[in-house]
Amino acid sequence: MQTAPFDYYRPETVAEAVDLLTSVEGSRAIAGGHSLLPAMKLRVANPPALVDLSLIEGLTGITQNGDSLMIGALTSHAAVAASDVVKAACPVLADTASHIGDPQVRNRGTIGGSLAHADPAADYPTLMKAIGATIHITGGGGGERSFSADDFFVDLFTTGLAAGELVTAVEVPVMGTGQSGAYIKHRHPASSYAVVGVAAIVTVEGGSCTAAAIGIGGVTGKPERAASAEAALVGQEPSNDSIVAAAATVGDDLANPIGDLYASGEFRVHLASVLTKRVLAEAFGQPAD
Ligand SMILES: Cc1cc2nc3c(=O)[nH]c(=O)nc-3n(C[C@H](O)[C@H](O)[C@H](O)COP(=O)(O)OP(=O)(O)OC[C@H]3O[C@@H](n4cnc5c(N)ncnc54)[C@H](O)[C@@H]3O)c2cc1C
Repeated sequence: MQTAPFDYYRPETVAEAVDLLTSVEGSRAIAGGHSLLPAMKLRVANPPALVDLSLIEGLTGITQNGDSLMIGALTSHAAVAASDVVKAACPVLADTASHIGDPQVRNRGTIGGSLAHADPAADYPTLMKAIGATIHITGGGGGERSFSADDFFVDLFTTGLAAGELVTAVEVPVMGTGQSGAYIKHRHPASSYAVVGVAAIVTVEGGSCTAAAIGIGGVTGKPERAASAEAALVGQEPSNDSIVAAAATVGDDLANPIGDLYASGEFRVHLASVLTKRVLAEAFGQPAD
């Protein structure tokens, strides 16, 4: 499988990259290339020009600024998984990154590319939704804006990014006192992508759950919050009963599930409920039923 011919640009600044993306018709940014190149080889995507972001300084790396982690868009999955800063401040993020694809995918794929691609089977979007991440963007004229993860993911492979805009960084809150999180996916056996993935971030204070955020990926076109399950948990003491009751409501927030040859929509909703039980048990530190 070969790609169609394309022109290739290697800008050294974000401004230059944005300039190229707005002036060269049909051009696409390329970061790790682990989603875009397979699509080009299958001729599902045929951009006439690629704007390679890899030489741009300042888009790679992880820093902690008080209560948040700032992760450059070009930071690889492997770097997130191995980062001591991430492991200490947001262990669920390092753990999620460590289960993406295989070593080659983790060494080349980037967090910005994964979010911009918005594959419903990807792991980061589901976690970002539960964790309350902010996605930072630069566009034409150096204009900057930010999206909450809730607003960024619009539909299947569709985000709020406008033409010529680049994801520059992802901001993730540091886990607070009493807060913990977990992410579990049912892996597709061929690719390791999530058939369904569920992320939970919970806060327990004085023995009861005071906040819960649950993200569900792989069931609908974009990651969804399981709002009914979240509401069912708040005010409850974490227990097998409260977890089972919350997980039973997950289907209420998953309208129009998608199905394919591997898993029907109905099966994906079922999996979402089963995985919600498991992920909540892990997040609350309860034995799984
Ligand atoms: C065999 C295999 C297994 C995989 N398994 C998993 C898995 O288990 N879980 C998972 O989540 N993912 C998986 N992936 C996908 C992988 O994580 C990709 O690397 C990731 O989704 C895309 O990141 P990238 O840097 O490679 O982006 P690219 O492929 O370079 O780009 C993807 C898209 O994002 C755009 N883009 C890239 N960077 C930016 C930016 N900074 N701003 C704006 N737009 C941008 C590009 O224009 C393109 O449209 C797998 C991929 C392969 C090939």
